[in-house]
Amino acid sequence: MSKEQKELVNIVRELMRNEVYPTILEKDRAGGDPFDWSYVELLAQHNLIVPVIPEEYGGRGLDYVSSALIIEEIAAACAGLAACMVGTIHALLPVIIAGSGSQKRNWLPLFTKKKPILASFALTEPKGGSDIEKLETTAELKEGFYYINGIKDFVINGAVADYVLACTCGEEKRRATYRFFMVPRDQVRISKVIKTMGIKYANTSQILLENATVSEEHLIGDPRTTYLLLNQILDLGRPLIGAIQIGIARAALEMVLRYSQEREQFGRPIISNQGVSFPLARMATNIDAARLMVWKACALIDQEGDYTKASSMARLFTSRVGQAVTAAAIDLMGGQGYTDENPLNMYFRDAKVCSIVGGTDNVQQMIIASLL
Ligand SMILES: Cc1cc2nc3c(=O)[nH]c(=O)nc-3n(C[C@H](O)[C@H](O)[C@H](O)COP(=O)(O)OP(=O)(O)OC[C@H]3O[C@@H](n4cnc5c(N)ncnc54)[C@H](O)[C@@H]3O)c2cc1C
Repeated sequence: MSKEQKELVNIVRELMRNEVYPTILEKDRAGGDPFDWSYVELLAQHNLIVPVIPEEYGGRGLDYVSSALIIEEIAAACAGLAACMVGTIHALLPVIIAGSGSQKRNWLPLFTKKKPILASFALTEPKGGSDIEKLETTAELKEGFYYINGIKDFVINGAVADYVLACTCGEEKRRATYRFFMVPRDQVRISKVIKTMGIKYANTSQILLENATVSEEHLIGDPRTTYLLLNQILDLGRPLIGAIQIGIARAALEMVLRYSQEREQFGRPIISNQGVSFPLARMATNIDAARLMVWKACALIDQEGDYTKASSMARLFTSRVGQAVTAAAIDLMGGQGYTDENPLNMYFRDAKVCSIVGGTDNVQQMIIASLL
């Protein structure tokens, strides 16, 4: 880490420890939809909602390694907040990469202000999950306006986003018919808020596009290459999802390490048994290896290298490590690990989502296998 990166990590770590961690369990256990703007506001105050927005549009212009560092810190306190952030990053990447000058000037600065704002990335549909070529949402051009129709499932920030980046496809389902549209909130209907197992702070909704109407200025990128751009966005997002998982795993490890140093059985701290210290050693080793894989993928992105395989590997490995670490942490805390008030219960549920989003673990293996 450079000096600047260390400083930024420390600022975010302190912010999360002081302003988020003390209230996160309350939100996790609140039931219903616990999203409110309080945590997102903290990120907005520090211009951290989309750290990769270039400086010329008011952003921090951070690289992916630095973004992963920040996301890990945020996820260590609240994985749901990190998911809100990564969802917004996904939604803005098409604009950052392929938007016109006026699109960048119109939309990117909105996400750099102190007033909090989120966007959502709407790809998944009831019939199109792992198979992203089965989209049914259509966009029809009539007299300078696009009319978008379809259902988008599992949209993070869905009900609270000011803009939805919607992916559409022509009826012939050919790759050349893919399109990205920036759809304002007033053109979208929320059909349901989906109650999820974990990342409770992140609002996850199903949204309806019923003749959602946008001008041609809302079409992002060159239609001939949108399918490639879609795959690029997914590749870019995977290590960031990996960074969320590292944050969760690290928080679980820190908690169980403290506990095993304090908890005494048979007259000595339980960590003095190799049956406890060896699993902790393996957890720490695996987290380190997984983190390095995230950094490698991010470094390849930053250096404009070939990052597809490294991104999927990072996303796959972090998923496995996060799930194993949070499960093992519960074992090592015994009965205390299984109580409702213990944060481990939240980490365990939060970690599970990282095996599904950005493509399931099987999808990552399909990508990696195709590139061996
Ligand atoms: C909390 C949450 C938030 C999400 N946020 C977003 C979001 O913001 N935007 C968005 O667009 N999407 C989002 N998603 C959707 C997510 O990306 C999809 O759920 C995921 O890609 C899997 O699609 P699916 O649910 O349709 O599962 P399916 O594709 O139906 O898969 C079901 C199972 O079959 C397996 N499978 C499918 N095909 C194959 C195959 N060929 N070989 C081997 N195994 C296979 C899968 O691995 C999986 O285990 C979110 C999901 C969740 C749970």
